[in-house]
Amino acid sequence: MLSLSRITATLFATFALSTGAAHAAPIEVTASFSILGDMVREVGGDRVNVQTLVGPDEDTHGFQPRPSDSRRIGSAQLVVANGLGFDDWMIRLARSGGYTRPVVIASTGIDTLAKGAGDHDHDHDHDHGTGEGIDPHAWQDVGNALRYVNNIAAALIDADPAGADEYRANAERYSGQLKALDAEIHKALGSLPRERRKVVTSHAAFGYFAHAYNVEFLSPVGVSNNAEPTAKGVAQLIRQLRKEKVAAIFVENISDPRLSERISAESGAVMGGMLYSDALSTTAGPAPTYIAMMRHNLHTLMAALTSAPPAR
Ligand SMILES: [Zn+2]
Repeated sequence: MLSLSRITATLFATFALSTGAAHAAPIEVTASFSILGDMVREVGGDRVNVQTLVGPDEDTHGFQPRPSDSRRIGSAQLVVANGLGFDDWMIRLARSGGYTRPVVIASTGIDTLAKGAGDHDHDHDHDHGTGEGIDPHAWQDVGNALRYVNNIAAALIDADPAGADEYRANAERYSGQLKALDAEIHKALGSLPRERRKVVTSHAAFGYFAHAYNVEFLSPVGVSNNAEPTAKGVAQLIRQLRKEKVAAIFVENISDPRLSERISAESGAVMGGMLYSDALSTTAGPAPTYIAMMRHNLHTLMAALTSAPPAR
């Protein structure tokens, strides 16, 4: 016998179907990492349900998919990856999980930079998988994020044509916010004298930021999130820091802070705080969205670079 609540649920379901697209089930989207997931949510709005495989404060480079990730990706209607060798495992996982549509590569069409292009040291070894020699951290230039948004909107329209107007409107609104953010970063960093625009980070993730906003990032030779720096590399970096009068050293949310702390102690350059490179913070942290992340990084950089004395 059907219970009253069951009948009511059935009636509601029928009603929802008859009222059309606005009440349709959301499109299931799986994105590789948190920054991309946020962009898809902005463009997709209520029409999408977004899951990310690599969560806040987690490292995408060394990510090991679990069997449950394969099942999750197999039931997705749209799979979005960064590309450029950053998340190749996502493309393999989509295939093995039974996803049959093309994987959307959000970075398609950007002007790529070589690894280390925005970095002072050109021979560091930062392994990002198969993206031979290309720096994958393209989202660190807000100009590139605009391209990501266009690619995501086109993919959503393709997967869900009934939502085209909504996706276009969301993309336009979000792009407006991104353009304002880009201008804000240019203006703030542009106000610093040239010799103040030098910082140290622990993994070489800011090449696009450096290139777009004219800031120089140095990182320890041979350092990636999976490698121990050599004593020689650290000593060389400290000499360079002093010579170039670098003002501040920053840690990243996905990296071990101990190396940065050691370099700071030995060089006298101050610890400038935490930058978010490859992952958002949780909602309780200062960088729960892409826009909040870029703004947090800007404010953290500005606070240190406008006040810190250079390395001695
Ligand atoms: Zn990285």
